[in-house]
Amino acid sequence: MASAESPQIPSSILIIGSGVFGLTTAWSLCKNPLFKDTKITLVDRQPFPAPDSSSIDTSRIVRPDYASPPYTRLATTAQNLWRKSFAPEHYYENGLCITASGPEQQYVSSALWNVKSLGTDRVETLNTPSDIARVCSLEQNGYGDTPERPGGGTMGYVNWSSGWADAEGAMRWLYTQVTSHERVHFITGTVTQLAIDHSTNTVTGAHLRNSSTPTLSADLTLLAAGAWSPALLDLRGICKATGQALVYLPISASEQEKLGNKPTLLNLSTGLFIIPPSHNLLKIARHGHGYTNPTTIPHPETAERNRITVSLPPPYTPTNAPAVPAEGQKACRHFLAAVHPSLAKPSRPFTKSRICWYTDTRSGDFLIDYHPKYKGLFVATGGSGHAFKFAPVIGDAILDCMLGNTPEDFKGKWNWPSTRVPEELWEGDGSRGGPTGMVLAEEAAKGVSRL
Ligand SMILES: Cc1cc2nc3c(=O)[nH]c(=O)nc-3n(C[C@H](O)[C@H](O)[C@H](O)COP(=O)(O)OP(=O)(O)OC[C@H]3O[C@@H](n4cnc5c(N)ncnc54)[C@H](O)[C@@H]3O)c2cc1C
Repeated sequence: MASAESPQIPSSILIIGSGVFGLTTAWSLCKNPLFKDTKITLVDRQPFPAPDSSSIDTSRIVRPDYASPPYTRLATTAQNLWRKSFAPEHYYENGLCITASGPEQQYVSSALWNVKSLGTDRVETLNTPSDIARVCSLEQNGYGDTPERPGGGTMGYVNWSSGWADAEGAMRWLYTQVTSHERVHFITGTVTQLAIDHSTNTVTGAHLRNSSTPTLSADLTLLAAGAWSPALLDLRGICKATGQALVYLPISASEQEKLGNKPTLLNLSTGLFIIPPSHNLLKIARHGHGYTNPTTIPHPETAERNRITVSLPPPYTPTNAPAVPAEGQKACRHFLAAVHPSLAKPSRPFTKSRICWYTDTRSGDFLIDYHPKYKGLFVATGGSGHAFKFAPVIGDAILDCMLGNTPEDFKGKWNWPSTRVPEELWEGDGSRGGPTGMVLAEEAAKGVSRL
């Protein structure tokens, strides 16, 4: 049974989750000759593509612009593959304008330093709001940020070699690659609990709800259930789900033409960002501290099932997806009004909103490691709102970690943490701005969502 002490090739592997972490691992397993005899099963609670998963959306930023050099390195490798061979038809290189007006300037400066160290000459420093307005074609010569008018930020830079990807398109491309190997057995079913043998501290698979196969057994179980992972493993003080606001605005063909090739604008001080529109749909979103959704559940590991409270995404059905509270919709609208006022007229409502769930860790580092207590359990999660861009490389990196070859510069970053830290003490990676401490139910109760 594989564990941190004795990494070995499993005879069978059960992957829980078909998002970026789970599906890329399945792909890498199919391609890696070391795993040629490994039986691979992937279970997800939804048929692919799971519409409420983090990995399925209109767009995701693809950038090497990190304050942390290892992520700049890995993102650069990933980006080269996006350009050439990983779903290249779903990748667009419009540039990324990354700005701030508060303490997040530190992150912007470090990211600029790291990106310049790559030797790129496609970076332009932006010292004033009007520089930002010029680069992003903002309508009113750019606003700095005020609490009433969160705008484009006061300083930053544009990296013309950053881009974005059509996330759903790329995931569908990846799914086709995986299925073409005819190695992965896909199952639709909800895992209710890991199958834990407490006498030997071994995970032997997973139990499913309402399935013709109530238990799936495997030599190694890989938990990649994204924001739902804390429902299946006690991740208190390690990972938590935070809901992020997304709204969508239909635009005309001429507006699409005007904005479609502009860079993404990401203001780290407010967290608000606009990705270039596609198919006449503009997305405005917030990369912030998000909403927590404290949920009391039976302890996922103990036989007694005593109850614990963790933040989890609320139940989802396609016809009853939770909408963004009025607070979040207003923030997006004020941002739009500051940067593209002609699009923010009251006569032009958002037609759709969505809360998309990050799996945050205390430092923004991913969690890719064997479980320290249970043999036969490997965890790949903790995307912290920035894992999608690594799709071309993260599956291989997960296998490296599984085989005991964690990339040198990620040693100590992706490992299971030695202590659990109360969530209120988490420092994050310095990239998050905007309001803190919001609880979804409280914000929803303050106002009916307005589209
Ligand atoms: C709003 C938003 C914006 C983002 N922007 C960017 C960006 O610009 N650039 C970037 O690189 N990254 C970005 N990210 C982050 C990136 O999308 C995520 O880090 C990544 O998609 C996480 O993948 P995952 O596999 O962990 O989770 P998911 O994609 O959520 O996959 C988890 C899967 O597990 C399944 N599952 C859950 N529970 C169970 C169960 N009990 N039984 C069976 N299946 C289960 C779910 O159905 C789901 O399919 C963003 C994320 C969000 C939410």
